[in-house]
Amino acid sequence: MKTSELFKTKKVLSFEIFPPRRTSSVNTIYDTVDKLKNLNPDFISVTYGAGGSESNTETFKIASTIKNKYKIESVAHLPSINLDKSEVLKMLDDFSGAGIENILALRGDINPDFTPKSDFKYASDLISFIKENGDFNIIAACYPEGHIECPTIVEDIHNLKKKVDAGASHLITQLFFDNNYFYSFRERAAIAGIDVPIQAGIMPVVNKKQIERMVTLCGVDLPKKFLSIMERYENNPDAMRDAGIAYAVDQIVDLIAQGIDGIHLYTMNNAYIAHRIYEAVHSLLIA
Ligand code: FAD
Repeated sequence: MKTSELFKTKKVLSFEIFPPRRTSSVNTIYDTVDKLKNLNPDFISVTYGAGGSESNTETFKIASTIKNKYKIESVAHLPSINLDKSEVLKMLDDFSGAGIENILALRGDINPDFTPKSDFKYASDLISFIKENGDFNIIAACYPEGHIECPTIVEDIHNLKKKVDAGASHLITQLFFDNNYFYSFRERAAIAGIDVPIQAGIMPVVNKKQIERMVTLCGVDLPKKFLSIMERYENNPDAMRDAGIAYAVDQIVDLIAQGIDGIHLYTMNNAYIAHRIYEAVHSLLIA
């Protein structure tokens, strides 16, 4: 099923996972999927490292297994900065052969150690190309606080509109910790004529290093309330985990009350945390 169809009848709940690092067995991811399956997700998306890490070969396999063995809708992430058209065509062929209908079309982060290929400068170029070469449902990324490289938030919204005009039928946000950024973004998107469902990407933060890495990479704002939690519990992993879960639940409850289209949980392959959050919010999703 195309993910854009899901929003017509419900608030969507999905999970993001990543292929295991080279040092661990690929089977560890299926232990996680086994546990996530009990939460009846609307779809599970699988990341793909734009920098060319070896785990990339696993993205297709995992997305295909989720769809065909677990019978859960899957979304394959596809960052194109280091790919050319023939490589993308081959991947599209694999996807359609495996019945994968949904692609999260991305540019990917620019890695200073790689010279990017020139076929896909922006995600919108990839979206147009996928549209011309298959019957896929295309999802795109969006940034409530603006993309880190974009000089102004207005320019970023215009660029987002180009992705929707090119064929993206559903958007998923980068993580954020202050819902007010999301609400302002949603208004700007509506003013710009962006009328596709927008799912909020929520990351439960369970350790300080993880969040420091994310902030450097994505440039998101950390509210005072969030910083106090980090400072107070940084040396107490259980308390930090519980506080991170509580913070994410608080964000989700507020988002649902404000009429969000859906929640996309960045699980970091941690099914336990996904379970805890699900337990706290699932009745709200169906209310
Ligand atoms: P684009 O939409 O191309 O935007 C990139 C920049 O270019 C922005 O600043 C934008 O404003 C600007 N821009 C866009 N179009 C134009 C234009 N026509 N003219 C001028 N400027 C323009 N990365 C991975 O490597 N693997 C993953 O699996 C992955 N999954 C992700 C999942 C989600 C939900 C999100 C939010 C991000 C994910 N990323 C992933 C990160 C993403 O690749 C980076 O954020 C990347 O820097 C931008 O990708 P994009 O597709 O949003 O790019």
